[in-house]
This record gives sequence, structure tokens and C-alpha cells, in this order.
Amino acid sequence: MSWSIKLFRVKGIEIRVHLTFVLILIWAASRWGVTMKGGTRGALYGVLVILLLFVCVTIHELAHSLTAMRFGVKVRNITLLPIGGISQMEEMPKKPSEELRMSLAGPLSNFIIAAVLLLLSIPFHFQAEVSAARMSRVLGSVSWEGLLAYLITANIMLGVFNLLPAFPMDGGRVLRSLLAMRMDHAKATSVAAAAGQGLAWVMGLIGVLNGAWTLVIIAVFIYLGAGQEGRMVEVKNVLGELRVRQAMTTKFQSVTPDEPLSRAVDLILHGFQTVFPVLEEGRLAGVLTEADLVSALKHQGLEVAVKMAMRTDVPTVDPDSSLFDAQQLISEKRLGALPVGQGGRIIGLLTPHDVSEAYLFLSLKPDLLAKTQ
Ligand SMILES: [Zn+2]
Repeated sequence: MSWSIKLFRVKGIEIRVHLTFVLILIWAASRWGVTMKGGTRGALYGVLVILLLFVCVTIHELAHSLTAMRFGVKVRNITLLPIGGISQMEEMPKKPSEELRMSLAGPLSNFIIAAVLLLLSIPFHFQAEVSAARMSRVLGSVSWEGLLAYLITANIMLGVFNLLPAFPMDGGRVLRSLLAMRMDHAKATSVAAAAGQGLAWVMGLIGVLNGAWTLVIIAVFIYLGAGQEGRMVEVKNVLGELRVRQAMTTKFQSVTPDEPLSRAVDLILHGFQTVFPVLEEGRLAGVLTEADLVSALKHQGLEVAVKMAMRTDVPTVDPDSSLFDAQQLISEKRLGALPVGQGGRIIGLLTPHDVSEAYLFLSLKPDLLAKTQ
């Protein structure tokens, strides 16, 4: 996230903007300034249009986030990208009715903005003529009227597009939550994901038949997004129910900081383990991974102490935290294994292999959940 900068906070939510956002401002300046021959005035107008559009996108994301917070969900931040906004939440509301309200809040905010702007636009033409024909006539023009028309159209489109019942969009969540009121969450997710992919096929077909390539690109984006979200939610559902202690390896080897690297080589050659917690009087001093060992051996001898090759900035995970969170941490830190700590002592080791085994067995036999400790 180093490519984004912090703008401000709203109710504890950090609003960030990605640096690539500058690209869309340059595009807007050149579209209204050069392509539409608006000169400097046009360029400034273009920048203003995009800034206001992204105020609307921010309101959309805030509507989601503030609703989610009412249901006790922690929201980390909102990042504005050239393609729109992303709210990063720690988890999704579990209850279908809460997810429904959270998902609808975003598009609803766009319809409200459009309605308010529509009312504001009435004084601009005294005959109170707010027709589609007039809107399209002033849409691209450099004027207050054009700006209003643009923002009204954009908000209606944002609201409608986001309500498409396909997964990366809010509509996918709306559909899932409606389904989840009648079936279990995982089943609802896979049905909603399949519906999204079906919709993507129809959109793609319409696009190809009419030569509307933008529609085809959007269809591909929806198809991939729906499948990915479906899988991701399925994995999250299965792993989120499991605790680390149910999947961790409890019989593991460890090394001490002062032992030579040759001891770790020995353990790798004669066992399955490739990552070793380095323990000093039972407490974690670091972790020695196979990659660290190999690179140390390239430059140094087998008699060098483990502490010279180990990593020290290693987090431990609680045995009662969810397996999904632990898996996220493993992939985030690029560690081959995560030490499991309890009361200052290391009681287990969690590897990606442990996680995938847990996933495999649990998705085959969900009732295993009750049987594993
Ligand atoms: Zn949304």
C-alpha cells in the first residue's frame, strides 16, 4: 500500500488515494482541454468533473463502510483507485439481512446524490425541463449545466452498474444475501457466483454480436471476478470456522540459536520439516527457513551458528485464532511456517500444507469440524 497516500479520516476510517489516480486527472484534462478543444478552461473543468465524481465514489464506499460499522465490522480504510473505490473491511457482516443492507447502501447513496442534483438542476432552466434529451445535449459541454448533467448521469450509472447481480459488484452480494436467507451461506455464495458468470456470458455475447468491445471487456472482468470471489468466499467459509489448533503440527523439531547450521541440514535430510522455530529456553528467538539456510550455506560453512541465518521479525499466531486469518498472515509474510504461541511458549507450527490439508478434509466432510480439537 505504499503507492497510496492518506487524505483524511471519516469516523476513524482512513481515506487513501492511489497515486495512479493522477493518470485519470491527466486523462480528464486532456479530454476536455484538447480533444474537446476546451483549452485551459476545459482542462480545469475536466479535473473538476473527475474530482467531484470521486467525491461521489467516496460517498458510495463510506455508505458501505458506515453501515458495516453499525453491525460491528471493523473497516480498515477506503482506497480510491482510477477504476473506483475499495473498502477494506476485516470481515463481512455474517447475517444475510446485515449484508443486504450494507451492500445496498452504496448504490442507494448514488441514487440519492442523483436525486438531489436533479432537484438542484431545476433552477438552471426556469421551465423546469429535465428531460433525457436535454441532458444528453449538455452532457459533454463545459458549463455548470453540463457538469450537473454529467454527475447525475454518472451517479445513476454507478448505482445501476453496481447493482448488477454478479460478484465483484454490490449486486452479487445483494443476491447472495437474499439467497442466504433460504439456504446456507456457502451454497448461496456458489449459486450467486454461478449467476454472475452466467450474466457475464450473456453480456459478452451481446457485446460480441454488436461489436461493443467495452461490454465484452466488462463481461470478462465480471466472469473472472465472480469466479474468484466465489472460490475465495468458499475457502474463507471453510477456513474461518476452523481454529489454528485444529490444523497445526504439534510434533515438530526446533533448533537453538547457538547450534550449527549442520544440525538444521541434518533435520531436513532426515525428516519432513523445512522450517524450524529457533527456541532459546523455550521462547521464540526466530525462525530458520530452508531458503535462509541455503543462502547462508552458499557464503558460510556448516559450523556457523543458526542465529546468523535466522529471521527475527517473525509473528506468532494464537492457537484460537481463525485458520483463515493465519493463512492470510502466512502468505502476507511469505513464511514457510508460522509458529503457534501460547503463554510465551511455542506449542505448534502451522504450514501452508497444514492449511490445505485442513481445507481438503473439511470440504469433503464438514462434520469433521466437530471432531477435530
Ligand atoms: Zn459498492
